[in-house]
Amino acid sequence: MLAPMARSLLVIAAVMLAGVPAVARAAPPPVIVIDPGHGGAADGAVGADGSKEKNVCLQIARRLRTHLEALGARVFLTREKDVDVHLSDRVAWANRRSPSLFISVHANSMPTRKLRERIMGIETYFLSASASGTEAAFTADRENAEGPSTSDGPHDDTLAFILADLQRAESHADSSRLAYAVHARLIEATQATDRGVQQAPFYVLNGLEAPAILVEVGYISHPVEGKRLSDKAYQEKLAQAIAAGVKDFLAQVGGRDAEKTATAPAP
Ligand SMILES: [Zn+2]
Repeated sequence: MLAPMARSLLVIAAVMLAGVPAVARAAPPPVIVIDPGHGGAADGAVGADGSKEKNVCLQIARRLRTHLEALGARVFLTREKDVDVHLSDRVAWANRRSPSLFISVHANSMPTRKLRERIMGIETYFLSASASGTEAAFTADRENAEGPSTSDGPHDDTLAFILADLQRAESHADSSRLAYAVHARLIEATQATDRGVQQAPFYVLNGLEAPAILVEVGYISHPVEGKRLSDKAYQEKLAQAIAAGVKDFLAQVGGRDAEKTATAPAP
């Protein structure tokens, strides 16, 4: 038998020891990869005022980084400057950082003068084998233009690469959750035309080992919205909204993962 004093010390020690692994288990900061679309020789879409998608994407990505870091995330950009980065290199580079999530930032464009004057708004995409509509397919084709050509061998089997990716089922369901969370915040903050959460086969979302979305923050080809995309205050609004959506998403999946841990049977 231990003296009462020794017993209470043991209790304190047990409590402290129990506390140690709890601290060690504290969730590490989320790692987020932001992918500013295009760069270098690839301008992406060009606005009526001559503004280039590659520059708008990088500016918004930098602002987004600031807001995500404020949430405590570790943030990496697939390019920091105006340089060419191959689509498949972006994916491989991102995977090496084992990200919690991946966000590709783009601005959209319409092919004809009539459509350029009419179409504006925000779309948020996640990966799927088939596009959710003809305009989604058109957007994916345009964004995939820098991807492997059909002569590039094993990469040319579009369906195979997407099916391989869709096997990562949980990641795919979370990509959808992330897309809806970010999109809702974007529309709420900007009051832009809501062109919805959509799905399409994007090369830059394929093979990512994390929830991944591609945000078309607006139509650079539209005379009004295109100009707005270069406006610092508007870029800031977009960046804040995306960060708010990421925060909502992390709270959603964090709650779910905590529940899983809590209800898991004792070993
Ligand atoms: Zn783009």
